[in-house]
Formats: sequence, structure tokens, C-alpha cells
Amino acid sequence: MPTTPAKPATTTAATTAPQLPAHPVLAGQKALVTGANSGIGRAVAIALGAAGADVAVNYVVGDAEAQEVVGEIRAKGVRAIALKADVSDEAAVEAMYAQMLREFGTIDVLVANAGLQRDSAFHQMTVAQWNTVLNVNLTGQFLCARAAVREFLRRGIVPSVSCSAGKIICMSSVHQTIPWAGHANYATSKGGVKLLMESLAQEVAPQRIRVNGIAPGAIRTPINTSAWDTKEAYDRLMTLVPYGRIGEPEDIARAAVWLASDHSDYVVGTTLYVDGGMTLYPGFATGG
Ligand code: NAD
Repeated sequence: MPTTPAKPATTTAATTAPQLPAHPVLAGQKALVTGANSGIGRAVAIALGAAGADVAVNYVVGDAEAQEVVGEIRAKGVRAIALKADVSDEAAVEAMYAQMLREFGTIDVLVANAGLQRDSAFHQMTVAQWNTVLNVNLTGQFLCARAAVREFLRRGIVPSVSCSAGKIICMSSVHQTIPWAGHANYATSKGGVKLLMESLAQEVAPQRIRVNGIAPGAIRTPINTSAWDTKEAYDRLMTLVPYGRIGEPEDIARAAVWLASDHSDYVVGTTLYVDGGMTLYPGFATGG
């Protein structure tokens, strides 16, 4: 029988639905987006800035791209900083949070987005390919979420900022649900993200910390260029997408802004699929 760890006291926050904030919806909030100098993370970081948040842009390689994102966010009239850290390295994550807290004072929103693929047929997959994907995609989310929760618990709710004590958005994938031959390490990591997100959401909801996930379908980013960069590949991809177009990073960014804001205050432990219907078993549209 597993033992249940001691829990901090349940919050004494209001028990009714909150008054919604005036726009911009994230004014005064401090956000950290991991893997934010490319693709989805980049779009999310810029959108959080446009919604009024100060944003820390985490990245591991690509100083120039990170500085570019910082510049775009600052142009919206909010603060932005670049924080270089490998999310799979505990000491690096702790140092990143220490710097974020020094610069911004606290954190209100974590978007745990950093992720990668190391694809291989299963019988040829190396331990290095397996470990790299699990370490970044799953352990990275654990380390970043743990540090965020510690700060949320220390600070509690600041009603003038948000009616919750903090928000975590775990970037997952439709492959938390859809098995993916040739990508066993990636699908395993995203299946892990789903239960990490749900278990954490259950554990910290009494402290009014909201943890949710986003499961993107096929989004046009560098992680999956070969799936959309030729007409043949794009047409093949569209057989999997009932809505008939590839997703853009901004499709995910808009979902992230909503999940980070008090507009989604009663949304707890949910995965929002932003996938053009990819999880609707499109192969059954004409058969089955
Ligand atoms: P991307 O390759 O453009 O971006 C990935 C980001 O993660 C980059 O900034 C990269 O530098 C960063 N990163 C990688 N390893 C890191 C580490 N150790 N520490 C810190 N940062 C690190 O790809 P993307 O499509 O924008 O992917 C973002 C997230 O969305 C990933 O978690 C991915 O699994 C997920 N996702 C993407 C798609 C898609 O179709 N593009 C679909 C489902 C899920």
C-alpha cells in the first residue's frame, strides 16, 4: 500500500466563481515558458506577453533566437528575459528558477513545453535515444513543475493578480492517446506527461493551483518538418486531420493564454486537444 505524502493546508480562498479580470487577461502575471525560442513555445511566449504577462524565455541552444523572442515580447510593453537551461538537469532548473525569482519576484504561470524526438524502429532504439526523450519530455516537466509548485505554495493567492495560486500547462501531444510506431520513446513520454499532469492537478487543486495539459495535433514547427514540407507529405498528413489544415503555433498559443487566465478558472486536470480532430479516428469517417 503506497503511503500518501503530507499535504499543505487547504487554502481558505473564496468558494464561489471569481470576478473575471479586465483585459489584458494576464496583466501583472509572471510566466515561464520552456523551449521558447522555437515553434510552439515561441508562439506561446509571445502570446502570453501580448496578454500582459512578463515572460521568461527558456531555451537550451540558440541564443540569437531567444533574444529575438525576448525583443518581440518587450515590444508589447511588458518585461522579458532569456533563461538558458537544460530542463532535464536538476541543478540547471533550480538555477533558472533562482534567476527568474530574482528578476521577476515570483512565478504565476509555467508552460512546460520543451520537448524533442529521437525516432527509431523499436528494435534499433538505443538507450541514449530512449533516455534523452524521457529525460527532456517527462523528467524536464517534473523538475520545472516541482519548482513552480514550491513557489506557488510559498506565495499563495494574490487576489489582485489571479484568483488561483498558480497555473501549470503541460505541453503534451495527441500521442498521449494515439500509439505511434517508430516513436515508442516519444509516445511513452507523452503518456507519462498525461498522468503526471493529472496526478499533480489532483494533489495541488486544494491549494488552488491549476494544472492542465494541451495536446497538439500536427503543428507546423521544426520538430516535424518532414510531415508538411512537401505537397505529398502535406496531403498524406491531411488524411489524418478532419479539419483539413495543419495547425499553426498560434493555434496552441491562444489555447495556452486561455488556460493561463482566470477565464478557465474551473478547468482543472484537463487536457485540451488542439488537433483539428486528429483524435476523432478519421479512418472511420468512411468505413469501420
Ligand atoms: P521545436 O523543436 O520547434 O521546439 C522545441 C523546443 O524545446 C526548442 O526551443 C528546443 O530548443 C527546446 N528544448 C529541447 N530540449 C531542451 C532542453 N533539454 N531544455 C530546454 N529546452 C529544450 O518543436 P515544437 O513543435 O515547438 O515542440 C514544442 C512542444 O510541443 C514539445 O513538447 C512537443 O513534443 C510538443 N508537440 C508538438 C507537436 C507538433 O506538431 N509540432 C505536436 C504535439 C506536441
